[in-house]
Amino acid sequence: MLARQRTIYPSETRTALTSLVTGTTPDRHGVVGNKYLDRPSAPPCFIDTSDDGLIEDLDIESGGHFVGVPSLGEILAANGRTCSVLASNSAGATSMLNHKARTLGQVTLSGHFPRIATSAAILERVEALLGPTPAPTPQGTPDLVAQAFLTSAFLDVVWPQIQPDVAILSFGEPDISCHYSGIGAPGTLEAIGFIDNQFGRVLDWWEAEGISQGVHLVAASDHGHVTVHARADLFETLEAAGLRCGPAPAPGIDAIIIPGQVGAIYLSEPSDAAIRRAVAAMIERPWCGPVFTAGRDGVEGVAPGSFARHLVFVDHARSADILFSFRADDAVDPFGLVGRPWSADWPVGFGVHGGLHAKEMSSVGILAGPLIKSGLVSQVPSGVCDFAPTVLGLLSISRPSTMTGRVLAEVFTDGVEEELRAVETVHETSDRGYLQHIRRVEVGATAYLDSAEAL
Ligand SMILES: [Zn+2]
Repeated sequence: MLARQRTIYPSETRTALTSLVTGTTPDRHGVVGNKYLDRPSAPPCFIDTSDDGLIEDLDIESGGHFVGVPSLGEILAANGRTCSVLASNSAGATSMLNHKARTLGQVTLSGHFPRIATSAAILERVEALLGPTPAPTPQGTPDLVAQAFLTSAFLDVVWPQIQPDVAILSFGEPDISCHYSGIGAPGTLEAIGFIDNQFGRVLDWWEAEGISQGVHLVAASDHGHVTVHARADLFETLEAAGLRCGPAPAPGIDAIIIPGQVGAIYLSEPSDAAIRRAVAAMIERPWCGPVFTAGRDGVEGVAPGSFARHLVFVDHARSADILFSFRADDAVDPFGLVGRPWSADWPVGFGVHGGLHAKEMSSVGILAGPLIKSGLVSQVPSGVCDFAPTVLGLLSISRPSTMTGRVLAEVFTDGVEEELRAVETVHETSDRGYLQHIRRVEVGATAYLDSAEAL
């Protein structure tokens, strides 16, 4: 088990899942948020990566470079290996786990959207055995049937018939219930119990059969969750600073605010003066957490009080002029769980993620199999970018130089944990009454974000 496992920033699903399969931080893979403004394209357009058709179009239009670096499916194919994806996330997230699967002749199967299945034959066999692909459930209702459908599809069809070298089984729960019921709500607890049972089915198969065939298991999550406790007047603050706000580029709009929990603000005229004006107004508000802008020097951004955005690995042509997280504290929420952020558009009491609170950044990382030490609780920092190089390492494929993550050799049976030293750094920046910290930790050449906070 990896005790110090972290995700990336923004701690959002499609950004983290892209890091999971590329082994790189968002400044390299370019999926800088679940949603973002593609400013390099002409005209700039709003991209929602949950839209699988849009992702496919963008990849074609960009000559196959929608994602800036190769992902696991492509790397495995180049090495004569196969990758299957079974996911009950949004159609876009499911596609992005292996976005070139169709061209590569690899299997992707959705728990909800038969249209994105890349193998008609496999979909037909799965539906013949299990019935039609389940429809999405209404918001606020646990999404259970799709999780059992995909687990059965893996155990009864994909594994026995294809035996892929790598299979990704991605459960969209308990994320959905955390968002729409609350992170400790009865429906969410039901979803967690249900997912545990599905994972238990995989574990039973692995113990009975998989382990003796040399199969390794990796259990991971893309992010944590915290509960919204107050509403932030983000729009009002920016309007009062003289910036007319809107959700997309339009005449008369000065600031495009990407909806969701990650604060991403694109200015129509992104001069340093305009960025400073917006940030100066924001950092006076009680909801303003960590803020990032283009780098001015090694640590500080162009706006006083802000950090340089390269510190959080989001310095990319698609990145917002101002990235921020809502302030979050360490008080307990109504469910007794630590961590309460503000939010501009999620209701109080619901679960969110995307920011840099330690509970959003901490994620699950458990590995098991013939080449993995058993019973080890590793205290060496690790991150979501480490899984792809580690999985390749288990298959004796060397780590491509595009990857920022490292092979977690310390958990291998022949690895030595004591040789790895974690070097922790805390950066601080301030302006007037605003003060923020960011904690990073390095292991060799790999840097991880631990958390950040504004005080
Ligand atoms: Zn989510």
